[in-house]
Amino acid sequence: MKKLITILPGDGIGKEVTAEGQKVLVKIAEYFGHQFDFNEALIGHDAIEATGTALPDETLATLRKADAILFGAVGHPHYDNNPNLKVRPEQGLLKMRKELGLYANLRPIKLFDELLEASSIKPEILKGADILFFRELTGDVYFGEKGRKDNDETAYDLMVYSKYEVERIAHKAFAAAQSRNKKVTSVDKANVLESSRLWRAVVQEVSKEYPDVNLTHMFVDAAAMKLIQDPRSFDVVLTGNLFGDILTDEASQIAGSMGMLASASIGDRVGLYEPIHGSAHDITGKGIANPLASILSAALMLDISFGLKDESQAIINAVSQTLKEGYRTIDIADSKTEKIKVLNTSAMGDMVAQRIAVNETITN
Ligand code: NAD
Repeated sequence: MKKLITILPGDGIGKEVTAEGQKVLVKIAEYFGHQFDFNEALIGHDAIEATGTALPDETLATLRKADAILFGAVGHPHYDNNPNLKVRPEQGLLKMRKELGLYANLRPIKLFDELLEASSIKPEILKGADILFFRELTGDVYFGEKGRKDNDETAYDLMVYSKYEVERIAHKAFAAAQSRNKKVTSVDKANVLESSRLWRAVVQEVSKEYPDVNLTHMFVDAAAMKLIQDPRSFDVVLTGNLFGDILTDEASQIAGSMGMLASASIGDRVGLYEPIHGSAHDITGKGIANPLASILSAALMLDISFGLKDESQAIINAVSQTLKEGYRTIDIADSKTEKIKVLNTSAMGDMVAQRIAVNETITN
């Protein structure tokens, strides 16, 4: 198979982890006889420095020609500490999602058994948890009208959803549930928010087309509690942009670390694959970032965008094998477990890439 993959490293550890995701994709191409061509484009802080905008037209043109995109992260302390700046790295990400029609963000949350002890949650609560989040990505407070009034002393961000936006992601979530445990939990705040009441009504309507899938509704505050108390009670979770943003970071603790969670953003055409973490200024340049979320994002790309299920599983198996052998980056190194060997970012990428060649038949 011949595919063009655009790498968007972005800022901070985004550059460090996408290099490892690419390394593993190169190895997959070699081992399985595919041709993956790569190109790179600017987004975020680097793009602002070079062009004055967080998502230059040239980048957008490159992305429109790609078969899939491997993205790192955007964000820089310069902007985080100065809310008055009008041009910001995150604008690049939001504009990219909107321009490419990436309305559904899929976040699989599954703990590798080898990391049971690394989580801050008790192993007996976690073991077997397997959740697939569908977070809506192009609506909600992120894209509603925002502004200031009363001499700048009042600020507002409008939470807005339209029927078609809820429908299209609900269909994706129900269809996914059909090939899993046939349960969808729709998370909203319908007791308070009008946009949530529309959300709930539309989800109920869509559910009639999937009679084999069991639908329940949960308020976001209750869902936040239940995720930690009983993560195994969830199968597919369907939610809006803001609630999904917060709940999936919380759920990252089920997977051991932010550095373990991959995501896929899909929509009308090209798919974008990225770790759920940000640019992590606190560890940038130290070579200690966990690249496994980026590597597992590459696995999602192979499965969802290219339909290469064996190749995708080969990456997951290689990650599992690497963890079984005791290799860890510092964020998932549990001091209670013996025989742990701590690796830097690049050595972890090498270790996973090497295990692809010898290990494609082990299942996680
Ligand atoms: P963050 O995800 O960057 O980091 C949160 C914590 O997790 C930090 O302590 C960090 O060191 C740790 N961490 C994250 N990824 C890790 C990895 N791969 N390996 C080991 N540890 C890891 O979130 P933040 O600190 O709130 O934000 C930092 C910047 O990232 C901000 O500028 C923010 O706007 C941006 N951000 C971008 C995205 C994105 O591009 N998708 C998402 C979230 C935050």
